[in-house]
Amino acid sequence: MAVPKRKTSPSKRNMRRSHHALDVPSFQECSNCGELKRPHNLCAACGHYNGREIVSTEA
Ligand SMILES: [Zn+2]
Repeated sequence: MAVPKRKTSPSKRNMRRSHHALDVPSFQECSNCGELKRPHNLCAACGHYNGREIVSTEA
């Protein structure tokens, strides 16, 4: 089995972990109904995207 030759130094370990932070998801107001929605996603409240209704909300 391939095995690392040397122990990873604290510096290298921390450089690797510098990309591991979680970020807070972003939200925008829907331009149709004002509900908060994720950018580039269909509005869950009214089913609109880019000014058009994509999914009808009434069952
Ligand atoms: Zn909406």
